[in-house]
Amino acid sequence: MDCLFCNIVKGEIPSAKVYEDELVYAFKDIAPQAPVHVLLVPKKHITSAQTLTPADDALLCHLFAVARHIAEETGVADTGYRLITNIGPDGGQSVPHLHLHLIGGKALKWEN
Ligand code: 5GP
Ligand code: ZN
Repeated sequence: MDCLFCNIVKGEIPSAKVYEDELVYAFKDIAPQAPVHVLLVPKKHITSAQTLTPADDALLCHLFAVARHIAEETGVADTGYRLITNIGPDGGQSVPHLHLHLIGGKALKWEN
């Protein structure tokens, strides 16, 4: 399977790394929607939040912990930020590998 974010995790496609550990890789979105726009992906391929299983519970908890850490590091923890995960076509998911968008650094509007 040829997956863009798996290839980014493997380093086969360059990215601006923000954070990495054994389970999670985080990098700057190529088309940022705000001053801070980081993508957090599990290194394991999971298509979307819709395909998570109970075996992924600890991973998902860790993903949110990493998000909190990155929010601190990028200076948006106190001002606030948004975590978004798009699911499927109507959800606007363009890359079918589970990811959290961490978006902040300005007051965000709600748009659908
Ligand atoms: P989705 O639309 O699936 O929720 O989010 C995919 C995100 O990946 C988009 O915000 C898009 O800008 C970003 N993206 C797509 N291709 C690349 C890439 O090659 N490198 C990086 N850093 N981001 C990408
Ligand atoms: Zn993948």
